[in-house]
Amino acid sequence: YTPAMTNGRKYVIFPLSDQMVELFEACQQQACDLKRKEVCRAQLQLDIQRVYAGARLYLTGSSMNGLGCRSSDADLCLVLKGKVSFTRRNDPINVLSALQRLFKSLSYVERTQLIRAKVPILRFREKGSDLQFDLNVNNTVGIRNTFLLRSYADADLRIRPMILVVKKWARHHQINDASKGTLSSYTLVLMVLHYLQTLKEPVVPSLQRDYPECFNPFMDIDIVPEGPKHIPPYKSTNQSSLGDLFRGFLRYYATDFRWDKQVISVREARALPKINSQEWRNKYICVEEPFERNNVARAVHEKAKFDAIKAQFAESCRILQERKDLNSILPVRAVI
Ligand code: ATP
Ligand code: MG
Repeated sequence: YTPAMTNGRKYVIFPLSDQMVELFEACQQQACDLKRKEVCRAQLQLDIQRVYAGARLYLTGSSMNGLGCRSSDADLCLVLKGKVSFTRRNDPINVLSALQRLFKSLSYVERTQLIRAKVPILRFREKGSDLQFDLNVNNTVGIRNTFLLRSYADADLRIRPMILVVKKWARHHQINDASKGTLSSYTLVLMVLHYLQTLKEPVVPSLQRDYPECFNPFMDIDIVPEGPKHIPPYKSTNQSSLGDLFRGFLRYYATDFRWDKQVISVREARALPKINSQEWRNKYICVEEPFERNNVARAVHEKAKFDAIKAQFAESCRILQERKDLNSILPVRAVI
């Protein structure tokens, strides 16, 4: 990345874009971070197979989708195959309880914690390190959408730095925590992609629309990671700098997007009208999961949290317009 790189061209210096590139380069996940996660995954898979023969463990989320930070956790999906997946023994809570017992005997795992959310997870750490894992059972949509996001991350050079800065910005302002009623990272990523897809000159298209065979929702899970390999880079006519895109993103959600009337659909690369179905009724923020088509922003169910999110977009948009310095809304040195 060179300063203010836009789609392969170098522009004159734009301070905001430079600051975004600096933050991105300092924070993005490194090859050694991924290696460490992969070594752990492989060992865990071997240990789990002693109890669940044939089980497969997949790294998902930002560790694999190209949108991770050095500090990102490692999301894991355990796939138990065959008819047995639906027996009581293979109910996710029962599986995670059994794994919790197993993990207590493993020398390289500590602090296991079973979290009974809509998608239950076992949270644990690699012993003696700050590497955290979140493991779910058979939530295979997470594998499909990980490789969809990875394809978006590869579609244009500006996407990774843009998303990393948005995540850091949201975290700094405490609006990036689904367990506290604000936005999950996954929701934020889809919000950024939606903005980039709906510009007059889009930065990215809908990859599901343009390459349906690569993202067939019924594709065997073992070959999902291969899908994105067949997608050529997208040639956008949009030459905006990173700084312009970030400012535009804040402005779009501060002033243009109609939260009460629109549903974000990355699958269709447009905002869909909000119809009165159970999925969208009485929801403050509607963001469609690209495969399951349910609302990934359902954690935002308190009016006060919704208002705080909107207020942050408006406030940051206003400040950045005046100051044109990333530090005015995100202290770069402090978050690196
Ligand atoms: P971070 O770097 O902050 O950990 P992340 O990209 O890993 O970000 P998370 O929100 O932690 O994002 O989600 C991890 C993964 O879990 C996502 O990439 C996605 O694959 C899956 N996921 C999360 N929420 C949903 C959801 N509502 N529906 C389907 N899959 C989801
Ligand atoms: Mg994660």
